[in-house]
Amino acid sequence: MGYKLLMISTPVGPLGSGLGGGVELTVTNLARILHQRGHRLTVVAPEKSTLAVDVELVTLPGQWQSTAQTAGRQTPVTQPEPSVLSAMWSYARQVQSAYDLIIHFSYDWLPFYLTPFFQIPIAHFVSMGSLSDSQDGIMAAVAQSHPGTLGVYTRTQAETFSAPEHYRHLGSAIDLSLYDYCPIPAHQLAWVGRISPEKALEDAIAAAEQSQVPLKIMGKLENPAYWQALQAQYPQAPVEYLGFFDTQSLQTVLGNCRALIMTPRWVEAFGNVAIEALACGVPVIAYKRGGPIEIVRHGETGWLVEPDSVAGLVRAIHAIDHIDRRTCRHQAEQDFSLPALGERFEQWFATMVPVRSSL
Ligand code: UDP
Repeated sequence: MGYKLLMISTPVGPLGSGLGGGVELTVTNLARILHQRGHRLTVVAPEKSTLAVDVELVTLPGQWQSTAQTAGRQTPVTQPEPSVLSAMWSYARQVQSAYDLIIHFSYDWLPFYLTPFFQIPIAHFVSMGSLSDSQDGIMAAVAQSHPGTLGVYTRTQAETFSAPEHYRHLGSAIDLSLYDYCPIPAHQLAWVGRISPEKALEDAIAAAEQSQVPLKIMGKLENPAYWQALQAQYPQAPVEYLGFFDTQSLQTVLGNCRALIMTPRWVEAFGNVAIEALACGVPVIAYKRGGPIEIVRHGETGWLVEPDSVAGLVRAIHAIDHIDRRTCRHQAEQDFSLPALGERFEQWFATMVPVRSSL
């Protein structure tokens, strides 16, 4: 017996493009484990999406939503025409009777607004902290009208919203079999993520320049003007942008680094790259802000550094040999395993769909 689940992916870009950031990996990993655990799944996503999991994938055309982190708090709700977001939710409305539950992954106003009009429950997985007044407002309304249906990655993320107790903490996980433990890395550091101002790559570049340890950068070039400005600002820094990689290539390069540097200027909701690094045995040096606080064990699997302190990053880089890489891999196995994530989501679903239907 399993659930019939309709997963609706982010409308900011196709799965596999990197535009969706960590939520793409979360959708993929969740689809993988829920499928393995015997649930029947359909994933709905923008056209050109790819999914490395053998479940039904429905892709729909339409323009992507712009990302909330690039807009101001007061920015009105907008939707392009034709909109992939509305296409995905029209599809969901038409097919809902074939499912027990919708799992929703976007950070958009429309799906929350539509919630009371659907006949089946919607589990809203919120993948970022508070960024917009209109989004906060509609999420608070759904938290009142449909209690228990909002989930987040971390407590720190939930605390950015006005009523954090309404959000269920679900964490994140990776398929550990896809990440190899690398005991002896090269003399280099990694920075991994969307190249966009909220990630403050400039601090990692400054730290690489000051410590003179080469920095390898991997990730979606989301904001090319920002990247060009960084190159102009630090012409001598020992940094190299390698490109956007799939998981297999990413983990090969990442594993061969002495540390992952995470420099979020915003409250990072989780930081999937942190657990990918740990899985390879790579310690994480992160600002003590947002999700990494709940991931990194300070002094054991990395260093939590005073936020926005490049000097702090440099000190942590010099202290990296105090961290045992085996402990990092061990933490990933212990705290971020995919079956445990699958169980947490199932427990959440059970509060919304009390009686399981047979497939
Ligand atoms: N990523 C990737 N290829 C790359 C660099 C990054 O697939 O070359 C993925 C990485 O696996 C992670 C995501 O990009 O899942 C970044 O997610 P994170 O949660 O760290 O930050 P977000 O983008 O959600 O703010």
